[in-house]
Amino acid sequence: MRKRIRDVLYDERFAIRERVFVLLMIVLSISFAFFIISNAVTGTTVRDTLILSGTLILLGVIAWVSFRKKKLKLGSAIISALTAFVLLPYTFFSAGGVNGGPPIWFMFSVLFVSLMLSGKTRVIFLICNLVSAGACYGIAYAHPEFVSQNTTETAYIDSFEALVFISVSVCIIIGYEIVLYQRENKRSEQRKKEIEALIASQNSFFSSMSHEIRTPINTIVGLNEMILREDVSDEVAEDAANIQAASKMLLHLINDILDMSKLESGNMQLTPTTYYIGDTLSELVGMFWGRAKAKGLEFHVKIAPDVPAELFGDDVRIKQILINVLNNAIKYTNEGSVTLSVQCGIRTRDSQSIIYTVSDTGIGIKKENIPYLFTAFRRVDEQRNRHIEGTGLGLSIVKQLVDLMGGIVTVNSIYTQGSTFIIDIPQQIASKDTVGTLNMEEKHKSSRSDYHPRFEAPDAKILVVDDNSSNLLVVTKLLRGTKVQTDTASSGEEALRMTLEKNYQIILMDHLMPEMDGVECRRRIINQTGGKCRESKILALTANADSESRALYEREGFDGYLAKPISGDSLEREIYFNLPRDLIHTVADDNEELLKESMAWIQSQSRKSYVAVTTETVADLPRELLERNDIAEIPHLVITENGTFRDTIDLESNGLLVYMSDPNHKVSTSAPDVATHERFFAEQLNSAYNIVHIALSSGIGNSAYPAAVEAAASFNNVAVFDSGHLSSGMGLQVLEACRLSKEGKSAADIVKHLEETKDLVQTSFIVDNLDYLARAGQVNSRIAKITKSLALRPILVVKNGKMTVGEVCIGSRRHSWKKYIASCFRSTGDVDPRTLFITYTGVSHAELNWIKEQTEKFVKFDTVYFQKAAPSISVNCGPRSFGLLFCKERR
Ligand code: ADP
Repeated sequence: MRKRIRDVLYDERFAIRERVFVLLMIVLSISFAFFIISNAVTGTTVRDTLILSGTLILLGVIAWVSFRKKKLKLGSAIISALTAFVLLPYTFFSAGGVNGGPPIWFMFSVLFVSLMLSGKTRVIFLICNLVSAGACYGIAYAHPEFVSQNTTETAYIDSFEALVFISVSVCIIIGYEIVLYQRENKRSEQRKKEIEALIASQNSFFSSMSHEIRTPINTIVGLNEMILREDVSDEVAEDAANIQAASKMLLHLINDILDMSKLESGNMQLTPTTYYIGDTLSELVGMFWGRAKAKGLEFHVKIAPDVPAELFGDDVRIKQILINVLNNAIKYTNEGSVTLSVQCGIRTRDSQSIIYTVSDTGIGIKKENIPYLFTAFRRVDEQRNRHIEGTGLGLSIVKQLVDLMGGIVTVNSIYTQGSTFIIDIPQQIASKDTVGTLNMEEKHKSSRSDYHPRFEAPDAKILVVDDNSSNLLVVTKLLRGTKVQTDTASSGEEALRMTLEKNYQIILMDHLMPEMDGVECRRRIINQTGGKCRESKILALTANADSESRALYEREGFDGYLAKPISGDSLEREIYFNLPRDLIHTVADDNEELLKESMAWIQSQSRKSYVAVTTETVADLPRELLERNDIAEIPHLVITENGTFRDTIDLESNGLLVYMSDPNHKVSTSAPDVATHERFFAEQLNSAYNIVHIALSSGIGNSAYPAAVEAAASFNNVAVFDSGHLSSGMGLQVLEACRLSKEGKSAADIVKHLEETKDLVQTSFIVDNLDYLARAGQVNSRIAKITKSLALRPILVVKNGKMTVGEVCIGSRRHSWKKYIASCFRSTGDVDPRTLFITYTGVSHAELNWIKEQTEKFVKFDTVYFQKAAPSISVNCGPRSFGLLFCKERR
């Protein structure tokens, strides 16, 4: 029996309430039985004993029947009613009223009600219990004669017994509830783990399925593109175009399934990048033009000319949203047209809502079905749509993605006449340019892709690594038009053998390969002893197309990422971005049209430079070099009693020196603050994907380096480099960074190179006296006075990022200058003879020429720049000061 009770109490097939009910009934029965026995012993009347026993049996029967018939609520209500209105009042009056156990029994009844009943019934029965108790108390108070009087001894015993029983019962019930709670907790933990494991295996199943399907589609799409490029008959071209469209749809279906599983498990993450909306729309039109035509539908595209050309957001997801909606529009339209329009919505300070409208003249949607459109796996109007293929996933994904991007999707539809889906997505604006007049329709009227390469790079060497021979074939063929030299390797080991022999500018690396995967292979290539490709660009070319994979490749240090199936277009674009510029030419074709198009493409690709180099006005670079290299400078400030001026923009050093010749005129300088830097970087990012910002040495007073670093933290793609120098010394580093950027080096590579060559830059100045530095608070005024009175000319040298007084020259100015020049070129063997800056303040032309002649006695530089120092540098040097700034070579 005990075992059976235990089994029921812990049997999870019974609801918790059922089990609590059984427990309560057991506790109640034991209490009753005990009281009946104890009352019989203490000599209560036979009538009382019979009534109590009868009630116990009645309660037992009710409990049993309601448990068996699964009518617990009803059974509990009857028991509560019986207890509140019969049993407890009877016990109250027959067992001594307030002088005994009855008041405590009322509590048990309340406990029963709160555990077994719920909602309104619970409230009603709680009130009934209290009303019944209140009535008993009231009557007993008014008519004490109705209450059987206990002796003091019985009253105490009764009360104590009731107390013990109720306490024990409460303890048992609470204890039981706690055990149940712990078990449930454990069970739900267990379930959570099982569900997580299930989701993980589901996700990995979907992503491996996606990977497996993408690999053959890559071959289909790639080789099909080659057919389209050939001079085939119109019929073959049309067939190939249909294959292309069908493959893309298949891919889209796989993406849908994969994304649904991600959205359901909350693993979907957006990956925003800068993109050209024209490219996105062109790709979409390319996908749907043929399909609409095949179905006899007109396909219109209307793009408002004021839509920003370049936006920042997750274009892959936006494309997916539009693919789903356009796909439906064509699917559910049998005649008429489908129109895609794009226009601008509300513009806030930093974002612009883009409104995509897809309208069709199709079958329309019934009003009552509209609320269910976005429910996953649910297709509406199934009877009518049973011949149209679909999964019921598309719109659910659309809704969830639009929500994730903070947008809104709305639907207007007239049944049998057509539907309009309006998708409003906020995006950040990446450039001030607008799309202007885009004619997508003309572009896609032919099924032929009319391919011709955008550039040629016959001297470029590219290695493609993939274990799948079809993939190798596809990439090689797609690149044929660009004339790049492609070699292939079908395993990581083979790739490592080839990288020992040849220097490839770019390596396209598959990820999942047997034995050595692409990530491992890349690591080995960049660390390969004697390897010729340690500096090569290595791009992941993989069928792992989700954003986590993209993040993984970025983390692993890959220089780029291409998802299979690749299009010739995206492949050419990546190759273009990663090849050194001097290897790239426009197409060498006599066809002028083609040549023009190729040049336009190359220009459009460089609309946004990959890495822009920026610096401060104190870098002392000639305007012509700044313009030629597109170097933007952030100005330092010069503060005078007449106002604050921006270095080199509002103020020029000669004028400032004249002003400062009056010792009473106070002048100080100040570095640009964080907010100014933020604005500066934001503006520069309009024309660059990445910025390398070269800042004045952090070890020199008034450095803007800390502010630049703080501002850069708000952007993902601004690297601030502490030059460790000032003036044209910094300028030389800026020019070096520009050279590397033009070679196509990444921001990280540029910073690394600058760091390694920092100590080779020579920055020094000879100043006429220390007066100006003393006025600026950079040196002690007493030392300044002493040097001046002794006609000492100090040489200021920047070493380890700090400015120190190197040597002191005595004698006439010319003599001192000669000594300074000689000290600069004490050892000439390691001087880099390419560039010398003679950066000066208050030095005449004749003197500058003389200085140049003196330097030529030591080194003949290829280029010598006479550079007037920026006002904020002049403030510290004073007139008749100059510096020789150049680089050394590592020996
Ligand atoms: P499906 O794969 O069934 O198309 P969706 O989630 O994309 O799934 O769409 C859900 C349902 O909404 C469809 O089954 C269809 O009944 C209806 N629907 C969606 N777009 C349109 C449209 N442009 N015209 C008419 N009905 C549509």
